[in-house]
Amino acid sequence: MRSTFLPFSPPLIGEEEIAEVVDTLRSDWITTGPKTKRFESEFARYVGAPAALALNSCTAGLHTSLVALGIGPGDEVITTTLTFAASVNVIEHVGARPVLVDVEPDTLNLDPAWVERAISPRAKAIMVVHHSGHPADLDALRALADSWGLALIEDAAHAVAARYKGQPIGSRANPVAFSFYATKNLTTAEGGMLTGDEALIERCRVIALHGVNRDAWKRYGKEGSWYYEVVTPGFKYNMTDVQAALGLVQLRKLEAMQARRREIVAAYQKAFAPLEVFQTPVARPEVEHAWHLYVLRLWPERLGMSRNQFIEELKARNIGTSVHFIPIHLHPYYRDKYGFKPQDFPVAYDSYNRMVSLPLSPRMSDQDVADVIEAVLELATTKA
Ligand SMILES: *Cc1c(COP(=O)(O)O)cnc(C)c1O
Repeated sequence: MRSTFLPFSPPLIGEEEIAEVVDTLRSDWITTGPKTKRFESEFARYVGAPAALALNSCTAGLHTSLVALGIGPGDEVITTTLTFAASVNVIEHVGARPVLVDVEPDTLNLDPAWVERAISPRAKAIMVVHHSGHPADLDALRALADSWGLALIEDAAHAVAARYKGQPIGSRANPVAFSFYATKNLTTAEGGMLTGDEALIERCRVIALHGVNRDAWKRYGKEGSWYYEVVTPGFKYNMTDVQAALGLVQLRKLEAMQARRREIVAAYQKAFAPLEVFQTPVARPEVEHAWHLYVLRLWPERLGMSRNQFIEELKARNIGTSVHFIPIHLHPYYRDKYGFKPQDFPVAYDSYNRMVSLPLSPRMSDQDVADVIEAVLELATTKA
């Protein structure tokens, strides 16, 4: 058993990131400025996005998208119950109604069949979440969105570097929000990026910075002017150059970090897939999985212990884990406001009760990976 605690998802920050941050701090511009602009253009080039807007979170990107699309009171947004609260909170923020639906049993992504049944005349958008970094069934969801005249918003918090049928997530015209939160595949400590077509991104740029029609960076420069106009009551969602400094270096390391994630996942799959006490995660042939998370689902009867016990046993063996996610319909605010019962979304509820996210980070050493495998196999064999 390992002697020190293995965190679930530690960041991988090197000397290059530290040097780039220090360079920013020594410069005369530390908030949204030249490095943020460069990060936007390098990120847009990386995913093949028409345009990109750096923000202080993925949540900000989702919120700004809803506002830019004019979604508000009386409107409905169809989304998955198996997501982080942020995806659904922003729908409440604009005064629209979140219409939750169940997920596909294999990918844990929004199930197009349930989406179709949930479409009403009040529906304005479908918000898809690429759970764990496995792209959702975008062809089916786009076809539904197009035939019903709905916007398609993607919560790509897990999906940087993911591809669907060869196309990178974020390469299309619709709004796609990425997260650079501390645990995500690419991190700026806190941060996010919104991609989409140029007109949408320019509208979002204004909404995300007080509703002011030009950047402070341009105003305070030599060519700038003191004059500005507020064209809408916007938000304060901009990314700083300190964050962008981290992002620029992390983006250059992303392919190598992704390769390490795939190695760790391959080791986990080899160890756990043969065991009938586990349901291991899938990658459908048409996708490139970003492997933000490795979500193992247990068969508690076969294993002889509950998911909660399994987590406690791993913790006792110094292995950190997490659960993604407590379904939205179980949270008191949503449960009480909309009168949800746990079994309203049986696939999400059943999966929630059986799931555990194992440590997955490019920072993990081979020994760390071996320690996780050893601890899990010990539980699988002694209790079976
Ligand atoms: C992390 C996460 C978010 C929020 O990202 P922030 O950058 O922290 O706002 C949204 N949705 C999902 C699915 C997430 O995992």
